[in-house]
Amino acid sequence: MTPLYDAHFHLQFDSLGPHLGALDADLRGIGYRAGVVNGTNEDEWPVVAQLSRRFPWVVPSHGLHPWDCGNRTSAWQTRLRAAVTADDRAHVGEIGLDRWIVEGVRPGDPRLAGLRVAPLDEQAEVFAWQLALAAEFNRTASIHCTQAFGVLLEVLRTTALPARGFLLHGYGGPAEMVKTFADLGAYFSYNVEALQPRHAAQLASFKAVPADRLLVETDAPVKAPPPERNRFPLGSDADGSTINHPGNIAVAYDALAELRGVALPPLAAQVEENFRRLFLSDADSRPRREPLAPAPA
Ligand SMILES: [Zn+2]
Repeated sequence: MTPLYDAHFHLQFDSLGPHLGALDADLRGIGYRAGVVNGTNEDEWPVVAQLSRRFPWVVPSHGLHPWDCGNRTSAWQTRLRAAVTADDRAHVGEIGLDRWIVEGVRPGDPRLAGLRVAPLDEQAEVFAWQLALAAEFNRTASIHCTQAFGVLLEVLRTTALPARGFLLHGYGGPAEMVKTFADLGAYFSYNVEALQPRHAAQLASFKAVPADRLLVETDAPVKAPPPERNRFPLGSDADGSTINHPGNIAVAYDALAELRGVALPPLAAQVEENFRRLFLSDADSRPRREPLAPAPA
């Protein structure tokens, strides 16, 4: 069975809550080894920590997402530092920059309900603080970036970065910038979103990513694969979007192997090595829990 690693998703989101037991069994059945679960705001950090105690395959990560940046409390830095340092396996994310939520979103979009949208300079300040936190404890930073790659580069060049590297999740920037980011320590996680015609530019980027910086993600429960490739249908969320089961990581591996014109086994072996280096290695000899062992034959 191909060993599968999900570099970025959100097990704590409400739409997966009723399915957790079944989902654990599904993942063990497909060769799943580990997945990085990203908290996106202060309320989620304790939930992610709890999930990491319940499921050995969960690698916890805590961060303030750019969409949640404007709603942070005055205690956010103390809380984030505490969440990250409480667990030697915990990383920092999801953090980053989003210009679309500031300039591109349609007014009245239901996703804006209850949000104070932070302008880009405020997002950048919050992002840089979290990057420096990741650097201080050498935890991997998982970064979201939408339509702000120039600003991202500027922040990365002027802030301390974790020595072990950082992840540009679901990378949607230009192919020409891949090398620049890789030289700064970036890894890039492929998402099946790239199969949609409006995201086709991502295909060129993921051909350009160096093999030793390649990772695979679902971003579950969002960004479900097209219906004909969805292996674990879970129905729809309240807003009508298809709920993406993290077991669809297998679909993303297949699509990436097709895109790069390589066989699945060597690609999976490379991704496994990359994932372990970025998220599970004892970079400073902190104890780390092993991911799931292969299922007995
Ligand atoms: Zn995400």
